Amino acid sequence: MEFKKSQKLYEKGLQHLVGAVNSPVRAFASVGGNPLFIKKAKGTTIVDVDGNRYVDYVLSYGPMILGHRHKKVQKAIQKALKNGYTFGASTHNEIKLAKIVCDAFPGMDKVRFVNSGTEAVLSALRLARAYTGKDKIIKFSGCYHGHSDALLVAAGSGLATLSMPGSKGVPEDAVKNTLIATFNDLDSVKAHFKQHDDIAAVIVEPIAGNMGVVLPEDGFLSDLKTYLESQGALLIADEVMTGFRSTFGGAQELFNVVADITCLGKVIGGGFPVGAYGARNEIMEMVAPLGGMYQAGTLSGNPIAMAAGIATLTELKKQNPYEQFDEVAAILEVILLETAKKYNIDLVVNRFGSMINPFFVKNEVSNFEDALKADTKKFAVFFWEMIKNGVFLPPSQFEAWFLSSALSENDLKKTTKAIDAAMLAVS
Ligand code: PLP
Repeated sequence: MEFKKSQKLYEKGLQHLVGAVNSPVRAFASVGGNPLFIKKAKGTTIVDVDGNRYVDYVLSYGPMILGHRHKKVQKAIQKALKNGYTFGASTHNEIKLAKIVCDAFPGMDKVRFVNSGTEAVLSALRLARAYTGKDKIIKFSGCYHGHSDALLVAAGSGLATLSMPGSKGVPEDAVKNTLIATFNDLDSVKAHFKQHDDIAAVIVEPIAGNMGVVLPEDGFLSDLKTYLESQGALLIADEVMTGFRSTFGGAQELFNVVADITCLGKVIGGGFPVGAYGARNEIMEMVAPLGGMYQAGTLSGNPIAMAAGIATLTELKKQNPYEQFDEVAAILEVILLETAKKYNIDLVVNRFGSMINPFFVKNEVSNFEDALKADTKKFAVFFWEMIKNGVFLPPSQFEAWFLSSALSENDLKKTTKAIDAAMLAVS
């Protein structure tokens, strides 16, 4: 397999793009080597500029849940393009997408569309503070909620990949109201409430996809919600990754919890830049123009993104692929574990629905500390061997692999062969 054209573009890209990428998670920083440049994708296949074809488990870090260029989504985009790209005024499709989203999440009477998950989360924090009149926020170490100042502390995703505890350029003042707790440990949350009486909210990735895949233990989310109610604080569910992915109603539906504020992104834009935050009426009425919490966006509710989102969610509802996701992920888990055993490699596989992650580690992973024990050097070897065998994975031990409903038996066969070659290389 050759990467000559990718290599050339990488060198060219370095001149005017930082690290030749527009998001650090795309750099191959922790696996070594240079990032691949992609030419096109269709269904589950992604093709690089050298013509190498891969089964895609990155899926743009989640949005492409139907696979790339699903024909109904493509048709909806083409139709929308004919009417114009952006108007700075409301359109019917914003109302349609809002209804689909609010119908799926019982805690959302109203939603506001923004342009990214980061925006959704930073707006949700502002809203929680506006509603409660309190300033402090608790986040869990290893959860990633986008790159806004207040949340770039003990974050997973690209920061974990690059071993960065936080970000330079974030003033101390910006994080002085951010408290850190341990995922799956309610006592660590309670300890903060014992010390502070001005905590507005706890924000959580209900299934933590940004430290690999880490599941909430039984009762963790519902006990957290009950406790927060007793303290007059809000629960913000960051479902940017899990919304419409773990099931149509997101992780909240699965774990029977209704958050006070929900953040969405990725899948709801069908591959275009969209984020959203929503809550019950009483909370959303704080948002301008109804209330005094200001939040705005030139391209928010963009017509092309709305059309892609409606088509994606409509098709997703029709396909209802969630059981299929679970079956496929279970097959992948067995393949990964058995192959690791064959080559005598310590491996833990965490999965939920269409999110799965193998950790090169001996003991179970139930929080960030556990995840950080994984052997990233072994993962790097595994990653490159998977690439050479035609499987495209996130270039990080701490990013979930995503499944799409387009995944076929042939894709699984190719993946199985690649896993064998990759585990052999690791051993
Ligand atoms: N929240 C979660 C849970 C995410 O996984 C991400 C991105 O991966 C974000 C927020 C930030 O979203 P965006 O990258 O669209 O700003």
